[in-house]
Amino acid sequence: MDPSPPIEKHVVLAGAGNAHLVALRSLVMNPQPRIAVTLVNAYPDSPYSAMVPGHIGGDYTADDVSIDLAKVCHAAGARLVVGEVEGIDPVNRRVKVAGRPYLGYDALSLSLGSRPWMPPGETDGSMRPLGGLVERISRAEAALRDRPVPVPVRWVVVGGGASGCEIALAIRKRLGGYAGFELSLVHANERLVPGFPSRASGRLREIFEARGVALHLGRRVTGMAGKSLRLDDGSRLPFDEVIWATSASAPALYLESGLMVDGDGFIVVDDFLRSVSHPEVFATGDGASHQSHPLLPKNGVHAVRQGKVLWGNLLAMLMEKPLRAWKPQRATLSLLNTADGEALCTWGPLTSKGAFWRRMKDRIDRGWMGMFSGLSAMPSQGNDAGEPLMRCGGCGSKVSSDVLGEVLSSLDTGEDPRLLVGARDGEDASVHLMEPTLYGASGRVVEVQTVDHFKSFIDDPYLFGRVAALHSVSDIFAMNARPFCALAIATVPYARGPVQRDLLREMLGGATRELRALRVALSGGHTTEGAELALGLAVTGHGERDALFRKGALRPGDKLVITKPVGTGAILAAWMRGRCRSAWLDGATKSMLLANGKASELFARHGVAACTDVTGFGLAGHLLEMLQASGAGCRLFKGSVPVLSGFGESAAAGILSSLQPDNARQAARIESRVGAGPEWLFDPQTSGGLLAGVAPEKAEEVVRELKSAGHEHAAIIGEVEGLRAGLPPIVLLP
Ligand SMILES: Cc1cc2nc3c(=O)[nH]c(=O)nc-3n(C[C@H](O)[C@H](O)[C@H](O)COP(=O)(O)OP(=O)(O)OC[C@H]3O[C@@H](n4cnc5c(N)ncnc54)[C@H](O)[C@@H]3O)c2cc1C
Repeated sequence: MDPSPPIEKHVVLAGAGNAHLVALRSLVMNPQPRIAVTLVNAYPDSPYSAMVPGHIGGDYTADDVSIDLAKVCHAAGARLVVGEVEGIDPVNRRVKVAGRPYLGYDALSLSLGSRPWMPPGETDGSMRPLGGLVERISRAEAALRDRPVPVPVRWVVVGGGASGCEIALAIRKRLGGYAGFELSLVHANERLVPGFPSRASGRLREIFEARGVALHLGRRVTGMAGKSLRLDDGSRLPFDEVIWATSASAPALYLESGLMVDGDGFIVVDDFLRSVSHPEVFATGDGASHQSHPLLPKNGVHAVRQGKVLWGNLLAMLMEKPLRAWKPQRATLSLLNTADGEALCTWGPLTSKGAFWRRMKDRIDRGWMGMFSGLSAMPSQGNDAGEPLMRCGGCGSKVSSDVLGEVLSSLDTGEDPRLLVGARDGEDASVHLMEPTLYGASGRVVEVQTVDHFKSFIDDPYLFGRVAALHSVSDIFAMNARPFCALAIATVPYARGPVQRDLLREMLGGATRELRALRVALSGGHTTEGAELALGLAVTGHGERDALFRKGALRPGDKLVITKPVGTGAILAAWMRGRCRSAWLDGATKSMLLANGKASELFARHGVAACTDVTGFGLAGHLLEMLQASGAGCRLFKGSVPVLSGFGESAAAGILSSLQPDNARQAARIESRVGAGPEWLFDPQTSGGLLAGVAPEKAEEVVRELKSAGHEHAAIIGEVEGLRAGLPPIVLLP
């Protein structure tokens, strides 16, 4: 009865090259519910190469030149996998991404760009990735600025093609004002920008000379010796920093893939942008070698224009329809930023330089960025008030504590003498006595069990599986027990066999990766089909009866220590609405992927008795549970609570988890001396941190140890005190 059609095919787009960005945009405009699309890219954002020299030269901010892939993929309903493609296996139709299982595909498109040539064995100084280049220049500028004495600093750009010239001129603009800064450019050809009209080469030469850049034209770099380049005339060029902007070379993985490549290692494609050896593989941009146009220059203009044809052909191939040929334009307009408020324009044999061309370049480049910055998914159905019907996944999909409490108290949940902690005790896990035959008759070792289940809050099943496992196991750690086995209940969307198999494999692959790292065995489970990807795990562990952490063991004077920042609820809500920046998601993901096991052991070593994990009811909800069970109150220091980057921006835009309003009903139990309580108090956490009461004399040391164990945001956030009659249990201070 479910109206959503089954997913039938899986397209993998490897690399966020220009053609793939255009393809994703087409997908936003024209969704394909039967086709799952995955973009794999080494970074969560993609700097736009044409604007990077302008950014280096100070014309644009980092945001102006960067395409946020999380937002684009969200709008397109595509999955973003941030990772390095390491290998292609066209025989078994799968690609290897670093640190995760193979991704199966029905169609694969490659747009991994190119790399500059570098001397064998050299790894430093590549112009790509462009994000790395920008960081390197910023670091170098800081070092130049902070030098106690202005000793000479020699930079060399190798490569005098269009990108090398633009980068060199931008660096000259950015760093040329620092005393002692020297810049040289080495180029194998006698002419700069050899593919351009000779007038353009001449103009550029004059510009470099006027700006004091030393040109070494007609000189090829043959190798390196320490901090100097060996040139083909036998001379050496010493440097402090080198940037390789040499001609494009192919990613090494193409050569090893078994796909047909040309003499330089680029994938040979036909007029339909399709590999001539493997028809279900396509290639575009710098990485493709066109059978019909072997001398086609490698530039972004062609890559962009290939996008529409590529996407049409991918769909056509999957639907067994005829494909369309791609024809390159005869002449392309080239606008080269000369970093002086002007651009050098070439069109066929014409050459002209001026501010008009720079403005035109700016308009064209901003136009391209504008195609991706404002993208949003096709509107979903809303309720009568016009609000989207969007309920959060992860812990934001939990039923509120009021509803749960009311239902549980109305049920006969049963009793058993072996049950030490049960459903009504409000602990993180249930605790039972063990069979005496297993662990002796002392009853010292007890069994601890917990279950969690939630729908996916992110589009990557592997990542979701990892987080779901860590979240589920956390309850065991919050009780100071050690998990050893888990049962899974997995829901996968309706899909054709291989697609469904891959989804299940990835989700469970992610879960077992984390479980195995914690020495937990997946001992069984159940699978079912459903509208959305979801995973639940019932985890069993053992603990010592007298050493279990309890929520009700807080003592006045204890310091409240939290091990992770809060804020995942709002950030995941922002992601669901396509409003989450890649950097925020990255921060939240890193935090969610931190297991609570080490923190639990550390707390136990320091004699902690009171602990819980901060999950769906938010920091306030879980702290109140502890205070109530302990008959205590606390002072909470607003400025000490670690909050994920991006939470503030999401909350300010009114984007919060759908569970937030239920959690915020607890506000009446908080006396705020800092004005309206901050929203993060009620933000539901997925795979949140532990919250513990630590003896005051040990708290600083515990936080220090937590930080060295990887919990870099661990902090003392408050202090337990006696309950003040008739007053709210939490006092929020600055
Ligand atoms: C400074 C500079 C300025 C330029 N200016 C212009 C211009 O003004 N006009 C123009 O037409 N051309 C310009 N170019 C050339 C243009 O950038 C390239 O021709 C074009 O970007 C090629 O596009 P592509 O689709 O092949 O891949 P790219 O745009 O290079 O994208 C490749 C993507 O794949 C990712 N990737 C690479 N390897 C892996 C891997 N193993 N796993 C996962 N992801 C990976 C990268 O992170 C990147 O996001 C410029 C180049 C540079 C360096």
